[in-house]
Amino acid sequence: MQKILAHALLTDDGWHRDIVLSHDNGMITGLEDDSGKQTYDCAADVLVAGMPNLHSHAFQRAMAGFAERRGATPDSFWSWRKEMYRLALSMTPQQVEAVAAQLYMEMLEAGFTRVGEFHYLHHDGNGRPYADMGEMAGRIAAAAAQTGINLTLLPVFYAHAGFGGKPADDGQKRFINTPESFARLLEACQTHLAPLANAVLGIAPHSLRAVTKEELAAILPLAKQAPVHIHIAEQIKEVEDCLAATGQRPVEWLLDHAPVDERWCLIHATHMTETETVNIAKSGAVAGLCPITEANLGDGIFNALPYLAHNGAYGIGSDSNVCIAVNEELRQFEYSVRLDTHMRNAVARPDSSNGRVLFDGARAGGARALGAASPLAVGSPADLVALNLQGQDWIRQDAILDSWIFAGNIAVDSVWVAGRQVVHNGRHKARDTINRHFGTAMRQLFAS
Ligand SMILES: [Zn+2]
Repeated sequence: MQKILAHALLTDDGWHRDIVLSHDNGMITGLEDDSGKQTYDCAADVLVAGMPNLHSHAFQRAMAGFAERRGATPDSFWSWRKEMYRLALSMTPQQVEAVAAQLYMEMLEAGFTRVGEFHYLHHDGNGRPYADMGEMAGRIAAAAAQTGINLTLLPVFYAHAGFGGKPADDGQKRFINTPESFARLLEACQTHLAPLANAVLGIAPHSLRAVTKEELAAILPLAKQAPVHIHIAEQIKEVEDCLAATGQRPVEWLLDHAPVDERWCLIHATHMTETETVNIAKSGAVAGLCPITEANLGDGIFNALPYLAHNGAYGIGSDSNVCIAVNEELRQFEYSVRLDTHMRNAVARPDSSNGRVLFDGARAGGARALGAASPLAVGSPADLVALNLQGQDWIRQDAILDSWIFAGNIAVDSVWVAGRQVVHNGRHKARDTINRHFGTAMRQLFAS
């Protein structure tokens, strides 16, 4: 049992002052007014629920900052992808584990307490399955165990290089499965997740370009009631190719051919007509926005206003992992909409704080997309983030979130996952060890 005194605490019904939060065995067991007589183990300026990160490709963290040099020809998503494939082909299981551990540690330090790992690096560098098909998934699970982050593992089904069942190309050989081998992979993943508390296993058909209609129908039953994630309409070329192959745009096709509902998370959903936008909102699916990566890769801007007007659910993900920051993802989302629509406070509802609406929206949508909805309340897992006001005790209530997100003058101080404190004073408790292994892996990968 541990008690944390929170001078400001945010729950689903709003802000509370001077509350003592008790947790035991990983769960929140009490929320009581501080009578002045209670003892407590530590104090926080501000305590909020942890943020889910609904979309990550962990191995790509090894590229962060290394894809910002222009070549002789103009760069694009597709030239970036070529570099990314080169990295993907070269990484050993041990290197993937070291990079993922560094990444998950950085996520925790940023205030993310659950990651949705959209995991597609399955086979060895020659495209052959490992003796244990779940070898690479096991490395992701090990990184989650080492850092303490909650894991929703989303093994990816990937079979083709383009629409119409185009054969996969050489750069994709580590990703490829048939529906039959994918079923075996899921079983192996389940074994690797078994030792992890609060882990969730979903599935991820990679995209409509990588999966045929028949394959999609074959793998969806494997998800049972678990989350289903898919990349969709990230790039204009993808929309054009889908139109050429099927006569429909990607989101239009998906909504017509798959049972999209609350269990689904549509990653990016960048290029949509107004009708597609409204129809996703009505389906109950979560839009998986990755604002920093979408800006970094030049994808485009999510059509937020009609989506939010129809109560569309959304969450945030760090995708390529070029930069890990809860507040910067939310800021980039809002600023993209401002630049696109020439409005201020675009995501906020009338008479509301933009930061609060962004935080609440991304937290609720992200948790649902990762199969782990949990309010900050008695009976929920103690996944908590303490913010340090850095002496600015005049910042109160929603202005705390506005300041953190837009001014960046408030810091993540401590983080607990299932009641276990993993970050203290802004640093992960195993930072030195994890960082050393990451350094070894990076020197091996980039030594030349
Ligand atoms: Zn992605």
